[in-house]
Amino acid sequence: MLVVQKYGGTSVANTDRIASVAAKLSEQHSSGDKIVVVVSALAGETDRLLALTNQVTSDVSERERDIVVSTGEQVSAGLLALALKERGVPAVTLLSFQIPIVTDGVYGRSKINAVAADRLLGLIEKGNVVIVPGFQGISPAGEITTLGRGGSDTTAVAIAVAVKADCCEIYSDVDGVYSSDPNVCGGAQKIKKLTYDEMLEIAGAGAKIVQMRAVELAAKFDLPLHIRSSFENVEGTRVANGAANNGEMGNRVVSAITHTLGEAKVSVRKVPNRTGLAAKLFEPLSKSNINVDMIVQNISEDNKTDLSFTVDKHDFKKALALTERSAAKIGAGRVEAAGDVSKISIIGVGMRSHAGVAAQMFETLANEGVDIQLISTSEIKVSVVIDMKFTELAVRSLHKAFALG
Ligand code: ADP
Ligand code: ASP
Ligand code: MG
Repeated sequence: MLVVQKYGGTSVANTDRIASVAAKLSEQHSSGDKIVVVVSALAGETDRLLALTNQVTSDVSERERDIVVSTGEQVSAGLLALALKERGVPAVTLLSFQIPIVTDGVYGRSKINAVAADRLLGLIEKGNVVIVPGFQGISPAGEITTLGRGGSDTTAVAIAVAVKADCCEIYSDVDGVYSSDPNVCGGAQKIKKLTYDEMLEIAGAGAKIVQMRAVELAAKFDLPLHIRSSFENVEGTRVANGAANNGEMGNRVVSAITHTLGEAKVSVRKVPNRTGLAAKLFEPLSKSNINVDMIVQNISEDNKTDLSFTVDKHDFKKALALTERSAAKIGAGRVEAAGDVSKISIIGVGMRSHAGVAAQMFETLANEGVDIQLISTSEIKVSVVIDMKFTELAVRSLHKAFALG
């Protein structure tokens, strides 16, 4: 079997953990499996590196930031290769420029455009375990760029697709995907099987367990994922094609509740209600590669529009500055900002055929005194933006209201 395994930060948190990953890999290697390993930085390391850049300057250039934060994964890759060699297992670290993993060159949130399989496969065929640092690649111009938070998942899937692996295993500190974050909601239930669509909605709504791009890529190439624990040898959550896998969510109205913490809200008051003005507000954001998540627009009686949207909190300062500039240009009113909101989503395929799910969500939150600031819906998801301090209360009460455990 040819398998790509990804170990997250807590799985390689220190040299003892790295040694236990090496021991497990050694056993699997001697059973004849061919293995490529993708590693994250040691737990907390990416945050530490980001904080260092912010200590040096308040105006961190994206290029140099990527140079700093990409080192975290290189350290854990090299250490794991050393730990394997220590056990007599042939192991080689390949950095992204040596493979190469080619990105689109956008600093901080690159997409992977191509992964060359030749060198990886050559080393695997010679009996090596190949270790690759996650979260990064090299642009056509030779620049190192990172893939966004959680990006090692996407590295692993992209490599698995390139080498035509049988499966990509994502090892983490939880033993699978749960009905909500098990670290927030004690009663969360493990979901054994998910279709790609279901996993996409859960990841897209902000569950940190796996990066959304990793799921998109796996779905596109029909690559089975197994999300599981690096501490216990138990079956995790399998994500595969619907027909082969029959996701478990099918029969329930609401199967998962997710939350994000890292969002910020920008509201522009009194935008003149003329064609093309919304485009004028959002164009500068997209040109700066700022992802706008939810957008809500209210037209008031005086023919002016209030427009609110959310962005990742890392983009907040930049988004605010750009929006203030555009608002002044188009003659809009005040720009208001809230840097401390979270998005809560309820997800379920059963929503397609059940009415009243959104109403039940709003009522549950109202009963807890949680004010809803923005709402957006899709066929199988309802998302609301609330004050961040109510996040846990909202997740727990919705979990109970929809009888998830
Ligand atoms: P890693 O470092 O292994 O990549 P992450 O911290 O990125 O781990 O992702 C794992 C975390 O995702 C868990 O510790 C858990 O708190 C969080 N999480 C959020 N939603 C879910 C969910 N629905 N199921 C499982 N874990 C979740
Ligand atoms: N180390 C990076 C992060 O913390 C990438 C990853 O772990 O997937 O986001
Ligand atoms: Mg992760």
